[in-house]
Formats: sequence, structure tokens, C-alpha cells
Amino acid sequence: MTNIIENNHESLNLPVIALRGLVVFPNLSIQFDVGRKKSILAISAAMEHNQKIFLVAQKDLADNDPDRSQMYPMGVVAQIKQVFRHSEDGLRLLVEGQHRAKIQGLTQESPFIEADVVIHETAACPKTPKSEALMRRTQALFEEYIQNYKQVPPDIILNVVKQKDCGRLADFITSHITLDYEEKQEILSELDPVKRLENLIDILEEENQILEIENEIAAKAKEQMEQNHREYYLREQMRAISYELGEDESPQDECDTFREKVMELALPEKSEEKLLKDCARLAKMPSSSHEYNVLRNYLEICLDLPWNVSSDEVIDLEKAAKVLDKEHYGLEKVKERILESLAVRKLAPKNNGQIICLVGPPGVGKTSVARSIAKAVGCEYVRISLGGVKDESEIVGHRKTYVGSMPGRIISAVRQAGTNNPLILLDEIDKLCSDFRGDPASALLEVLDSEQNSSFYDHYIDLPFDLSKVLFLTTANDHTTIPAPLLDRMDVITLSSYTHEEKFQIAVKHLIPKQLKKHGILAKQLKITQSAVHEIISSYTKEAGVRGLERNIAKICRQCAKVIVDDPNAKTTIKKSNLEDYLGPKKFRHDEISKRDEIGLVNGLAWTSVGGEILPIEVAAMTGTGKLELTGNLGNVMKESAKAAISCVRTRAENLGISTDFYQKMDIHIHVPEGAVPKDGPSAGIAMATSITSALSQTKIRHDVAMTGEITLQGRVLPIGGLKEKTMAAYRAGIKNVIIPADNVSDLAEVDQVVKESIEFHPVHRLDEVLNLALTEMPKPKKSQPGADDRKPDPLPDPAVSQP
Ligand code: ADP
Repeated sequence: MTNIIENNHESLNLPVIALRGLVVFPNLSIQFDVGRKKSILAISAAMEHNQKIFLVAQKDLADNDPDRSQMYPMGVVAQIKQVFRHSEDGLRLLVEGQHRAKIQGLTQESPFIEADVVIHETAACPKTPKSEALMRRTQALFEEYIQNYKQVPPDIILNVVKQKDCGRLADFITSHITLDYEEKQEILSELDPVKRLENLIDILEEENQILEIENEIAAKAKEQMEQNHREYYLREQMRAISYELGEDESPQDECDTFREKVMELALPEKSEEKLLKDCARLAKMPSSSHEYNVLRNYLEICLDLPWNVSSDEVIDLEKAAKVLDKEHYGLEKVKERILESLAVRKLAPKNNGQIICLVGPPGVGKTSVARSIAKAVGCEYVRISLGGVKDESEIVGHRKTYVGSMPGRIISAVRQAGTNNPLILLDEIDKLCSDFRGDPASALLEVLDSEQNSSFYDHYIDLPFDLSKVLFLTTANDHTTIPAPLLDRMDVITLSSYTHEEKFQIAVKHLIPKQLKKHGILAKQLKITQSAVHEIISSYTKEAGVRGLERNIAKICRQCAKVIVDDPNAKTTIKKSNLEDYLGPKKFRHDEISKRDEIGLVNGLAWTSVGGEILPIEVAAMTGTGKLELTGNLGNVMKESAKAAISCVRTRAENLGISTDFYQKMDIHIHVPEGAVPKDGPSAGIAMATSITSALSQTKIRHDVAMTGEITLQGRVLPIGGLKEKTMAAYRAGIKNVIIPADNVSDLAEVDQVVKESIEFHPVHRLDEVLNLALTEMPKPKKSQPGADDRKPDPLPDPAVSQP
């Protein structure tokens, strides 16, 4: 149903004014200014005739001369009530809207616009329950609007209550609320009064919500401002009171103190000048302002730096050797290299060229060696952990204009040391990362470069600082991941895994006495027997270093301390038999390798950042369609290496008694247990090839043989890294024979003597040699498919492995 009665479509020809951002409604008076020439001429034309004019909103506010397409179709025919000249070329107009009307067409565009318009008069809306409900809802919403939006005069509400017609009510409210002209135009264009009211309700609901949020925000902001003012006054009062009581320095006094300190520091001229300027700036700032505190903080940090404070560094090689020996067992080569570096530092203090980098798995004493060096030389020691540092500004600081800015880690370390010649340990330099925030490695280059670091520039300090006297030392787990330019400047000293015997000696000579002292226990109160120490090493730890071992000893000490507190005369002895009472059940098995020769199971050797490990590799060959399955969390390189191993075996299939079509008729599954540990690298190549040959030819592999080596498609064995760590793992597991690439023979010099004594090494060039050594029996050439019937009789294992 429609309530529109288009009143005889009366058509008029009227002068037109295009309104910018303004919508006029019927039955309402409005005053506005007119400046455009066309509009002024239109008014003159209307005044000469019947004072009627057509007012219509233009779509684009920026358009200075809108044409028909730039005007909304619906406007209002209005009666001009008054015209004043309010400026030289501007008029002020009071008009009263009369009827909605639609433009039919422009009859003239110049000198002013004239158009044919058709009046659309709406009859009074009949009263229905729906219209009544809508009117009441609108009135309620409008009341709420007025409460939220305080700028509407409250007497308007009286007129709203008086309105009895839906359409008129909608027009009246729309013209009195603050709305976008486009939304107002939508209300004007709606001829159905009920729909018009419904649209208005939607708008009012949304507006009320927005106003409520706006008011909330305003209230909060006001509260915050009042709080800030309050704090400001209270602070100022407090300061004034303290000053009167002589408890606090006045800002001026504070600046004078800073100035005196700057003068005392005897800084280079430019730096001194800059700091004095900052002092002068501080004196002019209101003492409670944020800037004052930032600048004051900056000056405090700058003045706190050890610009000219050095500790008395004495390099006495004999004494240094004693300190190193006293605090560390073994590590002969490492100590020797360190003493050499110290000798160079003594002879040529300016030649800070090569930085020592201690590389080794965790817990082998890198950090504690560094601490000993500081002690030996008599300088301060500070450690900076670089693990996970991604941001350049962590090294060189943030500019002090940043909120919460601070100096970088290097300057903070120097400040912490309190001298300008400390030993700074840059720990875990291989764990630096770089991302979009800059490259911390290149920032470190500047720090470590002896050419540049005599005027190191921290963004926060904003002054050059001399780092040339600092003794830098770095540590890493794996030198291959140190950024190349950094590695270039370093003198790498490798600390490798400890043997069981070394761990035992370290425990007895260092860790146990150290922990006893730390826990306040006397040697007579706690005794740990030798067998118990051996047992802790083999059954409670599995590590390259001695951290776990130290932790277990600390655990025993803690429990013993409790007993001593209860009874000071108590004496505890830890033996192998009662170790479980203190450390719980054993965590690791003694032997990780299989006790029997098996088909498809080989002992590989892996090298991880925590040292060497036995890497058992299992292969199963099953009748199938030639699928290859690789499981056990293998990295891409290892997967490729597995594929190369298969192809290599395939080229030799006939000679190895393997059916040549195994790649079509057998499925091969290669599994490397302990799936939770990621594994990668090419060094398991020969181990995989051996295991595949074993599974396909159904020949057993010796359980006391371990191997490492990369494989090529031709079956050549290529050299690998980490031989020392890998052989150590083999030694720990009780392996007697280790197959290594012939090219790695020179690395055997590095391998520990104990390991060499108990393991026989077999250098090889080709896969055939490996198979000869590792398989219990060489498979005989044949062409049939391996199956249950073809299986060889199990030969008696031959304990002696032939030398190549
Ligand atoms: P890293 O820095 O290599 O991870 P730490 O320096 O933290 O290892 O060493 C761990 C613990 O082992 C320290 O308490 C350290 O004193 C001790 N330690 C390591 N190696 C030796 C050693 N050769 N002699 C004596 N104590 C050692």
C-alpha cells in the first residue's frame, strides 16, 4: 500500500539553486548564504516573479558549476522570505520549504539555472497501529539523541511530540539532527512516509550508539587529563617542599652537578661540548616535563660510563697458566692457544686483530674458560648472550628520541663492567639472526674491528666511545653457522666432547668440590664414591659436556644439605647401589646398539651440536610396487642421500645377488628411529646403502661395526665432518670397528687416544669395501628375486674384521 498521492503532478518552471552539503525539507524554514553568481541571479529572477525557487542538493561538493547529472533528482520548492546582502558579493537567504518536487529537465543553464519541476505532494499519513508505534519509537530515540548530543536545543522535543504525521515527523527530525547530507537526501527522496520513518529509526539507532561511544571516550580523556594535571601540581608541590627542606637539588643545581661531572671526565673536546650543551638545555626545561626526564636519564647514563677508568691489567703468562690449570681439567691445546693470544696482547696491546672464538658443544667449558681468562688477566668480566638477537639496535642502541630507548648491549656491558678494558664474552655468536630490522652481524663487525672500534658509535649515547682496550671473546656451538665476515676476523679454538674418563676426572677434581662449596657442605659430610660417579656419567647423562653431570651432583648436594640441617653430624656416602634413591631411576641405557647381527639394521654415526651420536638406520624391503618410504624426521639432504644410496645399490644389484627389478617389485622403507629428533646431512650415505643391500639380499650386518661417509652414485665414499665427535659416540656405545672415508684419515690425529686404543678404524674408498667389512657375508651374484627360499643360511659371525 502506498500513501503517496501525487497531487495532480503540478508542473512548474522555476529558477534553481544547487545547494552544497545542505538539504532543505518541506514545512521548515532555513537560513543559508549564497555566493555563486548563478545562484544570485536565480534569486533575482525569483524575486521579480513569485519569490518561488527550487532548492536541490548537488552530489559533488567540489563541483563549482553542477549540471543536471550532478544534481539529485528530488528537491524542494521553497518560498523566499527574506534576502540580505551580507557581504560584497554574497547574500543571506531565509526560505521556507513548501513541497517536495522532482526535476523534469533543465530549461536553461545560463546565466542562471532554470528547470521544469513536478510537485510530489504527500497526503497526511493515515493513523494505523504500525505508524503510531513507529512514531513513538522515533520520538523515544530522538529524546535519547538529544540527551547524548547536547547541542540540540531541548525545546525542539516539544515540537516533535506535537507532530501527528509520520512523514512530517521524519522530515522535522532529520532536519534537526547532525547527519551527512547524503543521508538527509535519502530521507528527502523517500515518498512513502512510513518507510521514511523506518529509515530514520535505523539512522537514529546507529547515531545513538556512536554518540554513546564518543561520550565515553571524551569522559575518559577528560579523566586522564584531570589526573595528569593533578599529578603535575602535586609533583611541583613536592619538589618545592623538598627544596625548601633542603632535601632535593633544584633543577639548576642538578644541571650544575652534571656540568661539573662532565668537566671532570676529561672527554675529547667535541664530546665534552655536546654534553655541556645538553646540560644547558636541561637547565631550561620544566623539571616535571617528559623531555626533562629523558635528557636527565641520558646524561646520567653518559656520565656513568667508564670513559677513562681502566683496571690494572697485568698479563703474567705464568700466573695465567696457573689459573687456567687450576680451574679446568685437560683442555691442553685450548689453554696453549689462549696463552699464545695473551702473549700477543702483552707484546702488542694495539694489535687486537684476531678475536678468539671458542667453538664446541654445550657444557664443555667455553664460558668458564672465558671467565678464567678474565681472572688470570685481572680484568672485569661481562657476558652478552647473543642467542636470538635479531635487531641491529640491540647491539648499537636506539636513538634517544625513541620511547623507552636504551643503549645497546655493548655499551650496557661496558657500563656494567665499570672499566673500559673488561673482557666481554659474546656468547652464542652462531645464533645471531637477521631480519627486516637490520643485520646485527654487521653491527658486531664494527664492534670487533680494531680499526673502527676506537670510536664505536652507539645510537643512544650519540658520542664515540673507545672500545679498543676491550678484550673480546666469542663462543659458538657450530662455527659453520657464524656469518662469514665475522668468522673471518676470528681465531677459532675448538673444544670437543669429553670422554668418559675426562668427565670422571672433571667431576672428581672440579665439579664435586665446587658444588660442595656452593651448598656449604664439608667434604667429610658427603662422599660420592668413584663407582657412583661412573654410574652418573653413563646412566644419568648423555651429553658432550658436563652440564648434566654437574646438575646431578648439585641435586645430590641439595638432598644432602637437607639431611645435614636436620642432623649436623650426619655423614652421607653416595654409592652406585644407593644412587637411585637420590637421582631416581636410570635415564639412559648403557649400550645403545643391538647385541645381535641383524638384517637391515646398521649403526650410522651422526654429529649434532650436542656432540656425536649413534644413529641406527633400519631398512625393510617388502614385496610391492617399487615405493620408497622415508620416515624418522629426515631433512632434505638426508632424503636425497637415501635416494642416491638406492640408485647406487641398483647399479650393483646383479653382483650383490639382488634381483635387478627390485625397484619395481619391492617396496623399500628406510626408517631412522627417534622421530622426534630432526636429522639431516649426507654423512649417513654409506650406512643407508649398506642397510639397503642387507635388506634386499637378506644378509646380516655386523652389530659391532659403525660407519660414516657420504656416497656417490658410482659408489665412491666421500669425506665427512665431525669425525672426532662421531668416533667418541662409537666409543661410548662400545663399538669396536668404525668405517670411515679414506679422505678423513688425516682427521684421526684429532681423535682422542682412548678412542683410538679401543676402536679399529677402517678407511675405505668405495661401497664394495664397506659391504665387505660390514656384512657378515658378501652376497653371491645371482639374478632371482630375494625371498624366503633364497635366504642364505646365517653364517657364524666372524669377530675379526679384515683390514682394507
Ligand atoms: P659452555 O659455555 O661450553 O656451554 P660452561 O662453561 O657453562 O660450558 O660449562 C659448564 C660447567 O662445566 C661449568 O661449571 C664449568 O666450570 C664446568 N666445566 C666444563 N669443562 C670443564 C673442565 N675442563 N674442567 C673443569 N670444569 C669444567
